[in-house]
Amino acid sequence: MSRKIIIAIDGYSSTGKSTFAKLISDRTGYLHLDSGAVYRAVTLFALRGGWIDAENNIDQKALRSAMRQLRVSLRPDTYINEENVEGLIRQMDVSNAVSPVSAIGFVREYVDKLLRRYGKKGGIVMDGRDIGTNVFPDAQLKIFMTADAKVRAQRRYDEMIEGGKQVTFEEVMQNILDRDEKDTHREISPLRQAEDAIVLDNTDMTLEEEMVWFKDLMHTRFGIDI
Ligand code: C5P
Repeated sequence: MSRKIIIAIDGYSSTGKSTFAKLISDRTGYLHLDSGAVYRAVTLFALRGGWIDAENNIDQKALRSAMRQLRVSLRPDTYINEENVEGLIRQMDVSNAVSPVSAIGFVREYVDKLLRRYGKKGGIVMDGRDIGTNVFPDAQLKIFMTADAKVRAQRRYDEMIEGGKQVTFEEVMQNILDRDEKDTHREISPLRQAEDAIVLDNTDMTLEEEMVWFKDLMHTRFGIDI
């Protein structure tokens, strides 16, 4: 495959963006970057530093100053300095605090800068909430993923139980609904569908069906066969 485009995948929580993006990365050889992982790493950093209290109030001044020492990288696992935090950032405490952290302007600036550095040469597939609208508004392909909330919660719940995490279905469902609400209503870079994005509703689709859809899209739109 000679042409190297940027593929931006945005959408609601737990629509399977990362899984889909990873598979695209396997098929195309493009680098997969999960922007949510960077927001999660910043959140873990803030929780560890004690700058978020139990009500999710954030000491922004302290966090901002501490972030000068923070080095997050995607390799593709997520690292804080030299520590692999890929497992820790998927825990419920991080999930519950990540939306308020990602609504902060200086946090978004930090993450945007990091993501754009990775995307300089093209040949990437990046998933998140504002990739097609804000991080890479010129991305050649924008996909907006959605699915029924109950189906999303069930998938996420199964995944967490399989990974040995102690959660209830209600807890997972509530977290998904809360994040959707916060992500779509925040002031800076809210989650929304870019005008030129193609919608993928995978409520009744298997991953294989999603890939058939994608393969077809790459062929008809770009003449790229994968
Ligand atoms: O994708 P994931 O669910 O891991 O993202 C965690 C959180 O990070 C989201 O709920 C959202 O608040 C935030 N996020 C964001 N912008 C992105 C990616 C994630 O605000 N581009």
